[in-house]
Amino acid sequence: SIVVTGATGHLGRHVVEQLLEKVPAEQVTAVVRSAEKGADLAERGVRIAVADYNAPETFDGLFAAGDRVLLISGNEFDKGRVGQHRVVIDAAKAAGVALLAYTSAPGPLGAALADDHRGTEEALLDSGVPYALLRNGWYHENYTENLAPVLAHHAVVAAAGEGRVSSASRADYAAAAVAVLTGEGHENKTYELGGDEAWSFAEYAAELSRQTGEEIVYTPVTVEALTGILTGAGLPEPLAAILAGVDASIEKGELVVDSGDLSRLTGRPTTPLAEAVAAALKG
Ligand code: NDP
Repeated sequence: SIVVTGATGHLGRHVVEQLLEKVPAEQVTAVVRSAEKGADLAERGVRIAVADYNAPETFDGLFAAGDRVLLISGNEFDKGRVGQHRVVIDAAKAAGVALLAYTSAPGPLGAALADDHRGTEEALLDSGVPYALLRNGWYHENYTENLAPVLAHHAVVAAAGEGRVSSASRADYAAAAVAVLTGEGHENKTYELGGDEAWSFAEYAAELSRQTGEEIVYTPVTVEALTGILTGAGLPEPLAAILAGVDASIEKGELVVDSGDLSRLTGRPTTPLAEAVAAALKG
């Protein structure tokens, strides 16, 4: 089977959707925390396995020898994600899976956000399980799904200076994962994945201006100021600091990806940011 964890998350749904275009549904297993949330997938013939990274026993016997597995990194920052991911790695090792692909972060990313990814990569390499590191760059959607305050204040606020971001859509990263899960020769490979074009926040603001017909400017702020803005908007301070820390990495160029791996794996250019903006503005 091809097994996908986090299958009811944003990225996971894209992956399953694209897998169903390539392989019969009964060859796909969706690992979900909630069977209800995955009911639509079950209806389409996808096999459902209910498991939680926090409960190792739920992964007992879940994988079979020869499976190709995609471990989608979790989003519970306060629960020790490396330990959570190790649960999946241990189960995959015990079963003798053929490939364990992991959605990681770009190699140069030094922000605290990347720590869990580096830790998971290390655990995966130590395990001896055939791996594929999908070092996903930033999603367009990190920005385009948060347009309300930007449109309200006519300002893109970031602590990234003139830094650039090689973002791509979740669907692009999903396509890369599907290429690895359904293709050959990806064992023990590391892919640095990002959009074909890197953009600056000034360029992003200009694109928003062009598409809305309103004047939207880039307002660069300090990391401290951004942390304050995010906590003011209701984010817990540790998470706000982590997100603002990413902007500091952007300013240093750590989210620029110029490997070409993403479009090479998918066989097509990545989705332009302008397209993601247009889709978001349409609602
Ligand atoms: P989502 O938050 O939409 O999905 C996270 C998935 O992880 C969900 O399916 C969730 O399950 C699952 N999950 C979380 N905790 C557990 C657990 N304890 N046991 C089992 N499953 C769990 O994120 P995306 O799909 O958008 O992105 C995938 C991952 O990529 C994120 O989790 C994060 O690690 C990382 N990320 C990357 C970004 C980037 O720009 N490259 C931006 C943001 C995140 P459920 O459906 O039940 O909630």
